[in-house]
Amino acid sequence: MHSSNENSPPKSAWTADRRDILLQSVTPVEIVPHFGQALPALTGSRHRYLVAADGIWLEVARPWLHLVTKVGTLDSGSLPAGRIAAALDVTNPVPAKLFREFVRHATANAEKEVAAFITMDTSGNFRLRHAIVKDSSAAHINYQVPALEPGEDIVVDMHSHAAFPASFSSTDNADDHQMVKFALVVGNCDCPTPTVELRLCALGKFINLQLPSETFQ
Ligand SMILES: [Zn+2]
Repeated sequence: MHSSNENSPPKSAWTADRRDILLQSVTPVEIVPHFGQALPALTGSRHRYLVAADGIWLEVARPWLHLVTKVGTLDSGSLPAGRIAAALDVTNPVPAKLFREFVRHATANAEKEVAAFITMDTSGNFRLRHAIVKDSSAAHINYQVPALEPGEDIVVDMHSHAAFPASFSSTDNADDHQMVKFALVVGNCDCPTPTVELRLCALGKFINLQLPSETFQ
């Protein structure tokens, strides 16, 4: 016969590292309830990972965006979690005239790459801001982000590929990897109808989108 002490698990010497506590408070990981009500809404400019029955999901909140997207599928096993639906809600749409203005700028400078940003301030006002270009050619651009006002945030990161087609390069993928923003590239700028690609960048996940056709009308 064993005493109760002998049956108790040994006391662990493990304690959480404060850096892990900070890391997990900035980027929480929550389990989607299987039986209970939905998790509290994610607000402000934050993101979290959600453990659902079928894998890991990323949820991103911005003043202009609510995104829920799957980032990892469970190959086997059974997580003690409920299910969640994908969502991509642009809660504050970017005015089409700002996209048009950038495409005009790109086609007017078809011999070299150009870059600009669409930003949103805390009142929800959008603004086109041109990049501070150090040097550029038909195949590259080196630029700085212009100084932004407090609370002003980049919503769309735009550049051109001069006469080359509009497809995101490996350099673009590396530049966009850790960001939450739309990215737009304009190509074939020397042609009557330039090509355009648009995607949502969400912390390493790229979601290809299409600009509404009326954007260029
Ligand atoms: Zn590019």
